Amino acid sequence: MSSCCKVCSLPDGVYIGNSIFLCDPDDKSFPFKEKVYLNEDGVCNFCERYQQNFKQSDLDKQLKAFLNLKRLPGSDYDALVAYSGGKDSSIALYLAKRVLNLNVIAYTLDNGFIPDEVLKRSKSICDFLEVPLVVVKDDIYNNFLENYELDSTSNKWFAKKKKDLCSDCSNKIFSNLRSLLDKYKIQRVITGLNTYHDLSEFSVRSVKKYWYQSIDSSKSFYWHIALPYTMQINMEMQNDILQKINWSDINLKGYTSNCLIPGFTEGLCQTKSKYNLDIVYLAKEKRSGYFKNNDESFLQLLKPKIMTDTDHETITSFFMEKGLI
Ligand SMILES: [Zn+2]
Repeated sequence: MSSCCKVCSLPDGVYIGNSIFLCDPDDKSFPFKEKVYLNEDGVCNFCERYQQNFKQSDLDKQLKAFLNLKRLPGSDYDALVAYSGGKDSSIALYLAKRVLNLNVIAYTLDNGFIPDEVLKRSKSICDFLEVPLVVVKDDIYNNFLENYELDSTSNKWFAKKKKDLCSDCSNKIFSNLRSLLDKYKIQRVITGLNTYHDLSEFSVRSVKKYWYQSIDSSKSFYWHIALPYTMQINMEMQNDILQKINWSDINLKGYTSNCLIPGFTEGLCQTKSKYNLDIVYLAKEKRSGYFKNNDESFLQLLKPKIMTDTDHETITSFFMEKGLI
């Protein structure tokens, strides 16, 4: 049994590719990879680097610079909040509107797997905070059915390819988001990330600039801030805010509080893995101070998911109700 970092729980000796996934040391699809190793105190190289570089004053400066950016002429909004309706982005929406007093617009991508109760909850949170909400429908049903299949004998789903659909969804989220930035003339994007964008040898960055091609083919950009991380909101503070805005959990399966399938598809993809597919991301959140030390909820999240018969039935009946299978 290999040992794990005492801060973030990453296992000694594994490789990390493109900052959020474990990979094999010889995997060519990840040109940049780094091995995890533990120092004599049992702390990994990533946590060591984070501890050396983290400065609250740097985050404060990055937030200030983000807030000082000017609105584009003719725009009604300071920023767009990428709003899934889950816990983290509800916190981001609250911080943007009530704490920073920004005039924001919220945007949700309905990927087809967002239950109606979640969309209703999003609408009522936005009404409560007096923020306009734009819901864009762009489903990923075909992506799902290309990658997963229902076995008619066992009535269970299996993964034809070992693919996690969250990356497909994320592409849709950001392509629709860019169209909205053009439409509303916005150059600032706020998300509910509880961790940094970049951890280099010299700095921790929570604000990042992204370039993209506008509708009129000109080169545009936006600044993206991980707002709860920048303002160092941990899980306990998050719970207080969720109460204030009357956010209530509708207890979906898996660990997301807004979409039906991440827990499900991950469960299908990782049947032979000993690690949760999200282990690197969760480790980043832990390193960033979102979870308490030895937090039981963190340790639970680290475990690979075991799919139950009920999980399979839930997805099957969802597809049957939509007439897709
Ligand atoms: Zn670590």
